[in-house]
Amino acid sequence: MNIATGSVLNMAPAGNDWVIAFDYGDETAPEIVRPVIGWATVVEAHLSDGTATTCLQPAFLYLDMVWTPTELREHDSRISGFEVRAREIARPVTTVQIVEPAEQEDDTPEVRVFYRAAGWVLDGKSVEPCTTNFHRQHLGHPACTDTAVWKVVENHGMSLSVGVYCDADLPAEHRSAARA
Ligand SMILES: [Zn+2]
Repeated sequence: MNIATGSVLNMAPAGNDWVIAFDYGDETAPEIVRPVIGWATVVEAHLSDGTATTCLQPAFLYLDMVWTPTELREHDSRISGFEVRAREIARPVTTVQIVEPAEQEDDTPEVRVFYRAAGWVLDGKSVEPCTTNFHRQHLGHPACTDTAVWKVVENHGMSLSVGVYCDADLPAEHRSAARA
């Protein structure tokens, strides 16, 4: 089959559960997050016997066009860091669960901590404020306006929670994970 690498052979609709994140290879710029609108069968390579191999790629709207990661990278080679996420983990939690050390359970969640100097755009629109603001507001304290550079993803097995913190407010128990 004579068909160019990167060609989309067909596409299946993606439902509403997935987003794709990427950036311009620059940690000081916010991450770009777009909904995945379809799963594309993309020609990946040609074997010497003429067989074409394919892979499944997310298709998404960006700059008023539909792209796959392969096509967008061809359009602008700076773009990198493509990551497909379930929409629920791309949305910040609205409550902060404070776990007292004495109450800590044995099945502590798996925690992953990420750093991004420009902060985190989780809704595709604006940089998330420091998650401690939910707690601060509750206590009548002034809001934290520092850039929330840390993203903490806790896997509770059945659910994921996501919080973003400025450097000063990163919970101490996550700081060691951040250095790892
Ligand atoms: Zn803060």
